[in-house]
Amino acid sequence: MSINILDNETINKIAAGEVVERPSAVVKELIENSIDAESTAITIDIKDGGISFIRVTDDGCGITDEDLPYVFQRHCTSKLKKIEDLDIITTLGFRGEALSSISVVSQVEIITKRKENALGKRMYLEAGKVIEDEYIGSADGTTVVVKNLFFNTPARKKFLKSNSSEAAQIINIVEKIALAHPEISIKLYVNGKLRLSTSGNNKLKDVIYTIYGKEIAQNLISVDMEFYNMKIRGYIASPLISKNSRSLENYFVNGRYIKNYGINNAIESGFFGRMMTGQFPFSCIYIDIAPDMINVNIHPAKMEIRFNNETELFNIISDSIKEALRTSDIIPDIKVNDNQEIKFKDYNSMVSFAEPFEFNSRKFEIEDKPKYKTESIGKQINIFDYVPKEKEKNIKILGQVFGTYWLIEFEETLFIMDQHAAHEKVLFEKFLLEFKSKNIATQELLIPIQVNLNSIELDKVLKLIPELLSIGFDIEQYSNNSIIVRAVPYNMYKLNIKELVEDIIKDISLDKSLSTNEKIYISIATKACKAAIKGNNIISEEEIKTLVKEMLELDNPYQCPHGRPTVIRMTKRELEVKFARIV
Ligand code: ADP
Ligand code: MG
Repeated sequence: MSINILDNETINKIAAGEVVERPSAVVKELIENSIDAESTAITIDIKDGGISFIRVTDDGCGITDEDLPYVFQRHCTSKLKKIEDLDIITTLGFRGEALSSISVVSQVEIITKRKENALGKRMYLEAGKVIEDEYIGSADGTTVVVKNLFFNTPARKKFLKSNSSEAAQIINIVEKIALAHPEISIKLYVNGKLRLSTSGNNKLKDVIYTIYGKEIAQNLISVDMEFYNMKIRGYIASPLISKNSRSLENYFVNGRYIKNYGINNAIESGFFGRMMTGQFPFSCIYIDIAPDMINVNIHPAKMEIRFNNETELFNIISDSIKEALRTSDIIPDIKVNDNQEIKFKDYNSMVSFAEPFEFNSRKFEIEDKPKYKTESIGKQINIFDYVPKEKEKNIKILGQVFGTYWLIEFEETLFIMDQHAAHEKVLFEKFLLEFKSKNIATQELLIPIQVNLNSIELDKVLKLIPELLSIGFDIEQYSNNSIIVRAVPYNMYKLNIKELVEDIIKDISLDKSLSTNEKIYISIATKACKAAIKGNNIISEEEIKTLVKEMLELDNPYQCPHGRPTVIRMTKRELEVKFARIV
């Protein structure tokens, strides 16, 4: 083997590959530079998936004549002077690598003008070498054009996908940046056609509407929690909005779009019990955190972040979401017709319900006690809290339709309750309570059941044994790859115990943020109520009365354990609109 010292050009090309893997990375770096330059409007044009042409124009501060020759040199940055500055960095860039990397593998033109200058400057570079450098008239701000990406690195070019797929990635990244910065007006043109346009009015809801449409925008629930060293704010959508992939889970750390699997997990665990398995929620949340609590310098593309106290952060995220969901009324309204909006009752509309109580803010405040009641902080607020005892008689059960749904009238609203979902929910809560209070009878199995497990699974189960014993299981290790179950909680004996144990193991390894005990209870209660509900379809009016009463007493009566709604509603007003009595 003979050792070579790589020449500068080769070193730069290798480094460039790490920063600018593909056109979307170029777009991301250029927009981030524009944001760092405090722009209020950024326009992006791309052609052929960004491979032949990318142009980013901003109205930011521009680059001084003195600085301009340096911006294309590696490790030249105006944002960082010494390593300690990294601890307090608030700009998106800091490595001084993007422009140099981009210019090394393409043809770059830059036009920049600072407000205080009469003229702007233009520079043209090929493969990192300055070819043209001149003064020209131009608007304030900076335009960077990147042509023929990877024209001199065919090996990299080969790895690019089709134009349309590269364009899709660019659109995706621009959308994320637009969500991260509703205060900046962002326009994206793809092959000359306007693809995205945000107004920069700093209203996140408007940006969400532009990108995701009406249904999501109308089902948003605000998240807003503050801790001594961080803030979680933004929106989630009601659990009725879901997707079978994580693509709707947006989150930003200090204005930076990043990827962190732990945060995805934390968001999902915030929705735990409200969403069907395999479905994922919508979120657009900002995590504002002291810069010295994070390390942004993990990867050249700056898409990863390390946190000083990950577990705490993940718990805070999931708690903030749980709190937002708990304190929002999530009974879906019935869609009256296609033009009619689906509306979710929010606190403001609840105030009328709540009279004479007073409650004006959706915000969960840690220090302030909720104003509407004096007892516990952060207590579940739900519609039934607003049914005072003397009004309970106004709840009229009208009857059943289609063998499944119960019509219930209360004052100005018609509620429609799904009998199965409601029943399941009530049972679930009952079992959950029993498990938690350890007040549970045991049922011996006629024949003990042996469950084979691999070493990881066995390890998990062994850790759970004390907890399982306390809630009515008789379970112990049988061999070095199996356990034996001799008794189960009374409400579970009808189940396939082997499957049950396997499911519990699966459930507890699914969610990282709930405590293990909590997960066991939820997992077991879900199964117990499934067992109880089977074949129990006929229900009398008497039973439904009890069911409604039981529902009224639940903390979260709105969804069954699988996240399906238990009750929907239509107001008198909506009926009147539908019958054209009022417009
Ligand atoms: P970094 O962003 O890490 O500093 P870049 O290579 O992306 O490195 O940019 C180098 C420098 O060029 C920046 O530090 C900044 O001073 C300047 N710059 C780049 N783009 C712009 C822009 N759109 N407006 C103003 N200055 C810019
Ligand atoms: Mg940069």
